Amino acid sequence: MKIGLFPGSFDPVTNGHLDIINRAKELFDRLIVAVAVNDSKTSTAMFTLRERQKLLKEVCKGIPRVEIICFDGLLLDAVKKYKAVSVVRGLRAISDFEYEFQMAMMNREITSDYDTIFLMASHSYSFVSSRMIKELVRFGGDVSPFVPPAVVREMKKHRNIRTKVK
Ligand code: ADP
Repeated sequence: MKIGLFPGSFDPVTNGHLDIINRAKELFDRLIVAVAVNDSKTSTAMFTLRERQKLLKEVCKGIPRVEIICFDGLLLDAVKKYKAVSVVRGLRAISDFEYEFQMAMMNREITSDYDTIFLMASHSYSFVSSRMIKELVRFGGDVSPFVPPAVVREMKKHRNIRTKVK
């Protein structure tokens, strides 16, 4: 069985992520979408790890052979644990490339057990990022063209909570 692992923060999942998931699932018998505890992004996180996983589960419910898990620590350990043959990452632009290249090369230095596969989302999502979505919501913008309806719903709740607290 060929298993692929697609790691990320998914804070929150966007149509760009979903596009990559749909493309990647065609390449593997099983695709594991791995929600990471990302320490460097914790201060800007909108959703908890469990909320991100729950949202992903909801929006991926109808997609066959896709499983959502959470992981903490090294990507290499998650790859080993789930017996993945490849790690999937998405590329939006040249700006993504430098970071992705460094990470893939660093991991290859440590182990040559797996390869990283880069996929490009459809042109219409090439500019969508979780960070931009969060900014748009904070300033009252409409994010519905860029994220699944379940994410719009949960982001609205977050906005209401923030407004009440203020
Ligand atoms: P990370 O915090 O690891 O960068 P993200 O949740 O931001 O994780 O993204 C996970 C993966 O999905 C990354 O490889 C990222 O490049 C990719 N990705 C996110 N949005 C898009 C998009 N619109 N098009 C293509 N790839 C994307």
